[in-house]
Amino acid sequence: MDLKDIQPDLLAVLEAERLRWNQLSEAVWKHPEIAYEEHFACQTQVDLLRSLGFHVTTPYCSLDTAYRAEYGSGGILFAFVAEYDALPGLGHGCGHNLICTAALAAFCAVARILEKYQIPGKIVLLGTPAEESGGGKVRMLEKGCLDDISASMMVHPSWRTTPDTGSSAIRRFDVVFTGKSAHAAAAPELGINALDAVLLLFNAVNAMRQQLPETCRVHGVVREGGNAPNIIPERASCRFFLRSTDEEWIGKLEDRFRKMVQGASLMTGAEYTITPFQIPYMSRNPNQTMNQAYFEIASRLGLNPVIPKRSARGSSDYGDFSHKRPGIHAYFGIAQKEMAAHSQEFAEAASSSYAFEQTLKAALAMAEIAVRYLTDSRFRTDVQKDFEEHR
Ligand SMILES: [Zn+2]
Ligand SMILES: [Zn+2]
Repeated sequence: MDLKDIQPDLLAVLEAERLRWNQLSEAVWKHPEIAYEEHFACQTQVDLLRSLGFHVTTPYCSLDTAYRAEYGSGGILFAFVAEYDALPGLGHGCGHNLICTAALAAFCAVARILEKYQIPGKIVLLGTPAEESGGGKVRMLEKGCLDDISASMMVHPSWRTTPDTGSSAIRRFDVVFTGKSAHAAAAPELGINALDAVLLLFNAVNAMRQQLPETCRVHGVVREGGNAPNIIPERASCRFFLRSTDEEWIGKLEDRFRKMVQGASLMTGAEYTITPFQIPYMSRNPNQTMNQAYFEIASRLGLNPVIPKRSARGSSDYGDFSHKRPGIHAYFGIAQKEMAAHSQEFAEAASSSYAFEQTLKAALAMAEIAVRYLTDSRFRTDVQKDFEEHR
């Protein structure tokens, strides 16, 4: 059996079911739900999969809005990864309605092909909540969601089609300085200024920037800075995100940051607390063999992929998945011009008919990669070799 013979079959199955996938995409888009509240989206997918005869487990990994569906038998397991959370106040401004649509469409199409050609191997569909915040995949990994999986893949909308160009590891911190209030004019010598500590921390971070490699990003906001100019601020706080595409550097950044907080405390006399905010994500470790396959297939399907000049700098909990098992988080284009994700216009683009057509193509690309992974032992070996080398 040749993969070339299967390509028209996969396309035919997807085309035959396009109405179903369009309805799924629109339903999820119209009911945006944020992290761990994706009850409608999760239930809609689970009901659909069960109505098609698939075995689905939900709740999964102790998460109410996670699920796992599977089909087939055999030792090689390929997983499609679905996301479906929205953004607060922005609806599907990251287009995750298209991600779950592509994942379900690819999973169902490959299931039909495995059945028709009696191909051994198993496919799994993982419904992963709370990507935007809350780290659903990190929590699922802790419960062993990839333990029996050989490789995984997901596709994410962007304004253009690209292979997986990586992502930044992220660690987030809330810093609170506590000083002592005093009349700022009558008795300033009795005060300890917590706001000064925040300002010194910002200055320290800004001084560090020049010595950071291109792989790093640091950004912070002041959250509390005092109440009135005539009161020396007793409490001041800030939140910082530290990011790097380099796993070694993310650790160094955290060490430096903690020392700078200590320094600001020493210089002002204000006490400090540093509290992690949300779950840290690892950087992505894109599998280049899978990336190359995606680029080739996406080109053939008319997705017009490009290789960007520099790697992506955002962060995703798929990063943790990609360090556990080989995988890619590839992008497919849903806009005709450059457009930022997490914007109102991107949310609108995520329900356009153009975006849906592109989603079907991306699903087809993912389906082909899955079939290739299950049937082509050389491809599988190359994927694994690549993974071991870049671990
Ligand atoms: Zn996003
Ligand atoms: Zn996203």
